[in-house]
Amino acid sequence: MKIICIGQNYRAHIAELQHEVPEQPVFFFKPDTALLLRNRPFYLPEFSQEIHYETEVILRISKVGKYIPEKYAEDFFDAVSLGFDFTARDLQRRCVEKGLPWEISKSFDQSAAIGRWIPKAELPPVSALHFHLNLNGNKVQDGFTGDMLFGVPRLISYVSQFMTLHMGDILFTGTPVGVGPVRIGDRLEATLEGQDVLRCGIK
Ligand code: MG
Repeated sequence: MKIICIGQNYRAHIAELQHEVPEQPVFFFKPDTALLLRNRPFYLPEFSQEIHYETEVILRISKVGKYIPEKYAEDFFDAVSLGFDFTARDLQRRCVEKGLPWEISKSFDQSAAIGRWIPKAELPPVSALHFHLNLNGNKVQDGFTGDMLFGVPRLISYVSQFMTLHMGDILFTGTPVGVGPVRIGDRLEATLEGQDVLRCGIK
């Protein structure tokens, strides 16, 4: 399986990182070793002094597809949840400055926390999902998928031009504004349409 992550997909978040608004979707990968499942804790790695949370709507790909037209994209995922795209912001900044790939800042072990899957049919349309993150009980991210720069049909269609999607692949759809650092002892709790789907303690 592969974990495909969309970057820079919410305007206010692009502004907070002072990135440029992209003309096409931007994506990168995390390997299967990045998976952090079942609300397990995240251990701060020694190679970064600035790990950020990024709360994102994630989709579970449910069938094989290549060159998927936008109008059929909905048929290619069956469940939705939230994930944390843990990011070593200090390393990412250095990579971006030098025009280098981002992997060391984005694709390390445990950098993809995955929440409990909810069948798509039990949720509002993927273009109208509300989600938020509480950090130690305080709301720090408040997202709405209707604010995406590139909506889910466009993302699936775009990515599938370049690579075949397989059953079990996971698509991270980008984070809204409000990202920030985590510290030992922090508690992250993310809700999707009012349902508790993902928790993570920082160790
Ligand atoms: Mg992200």
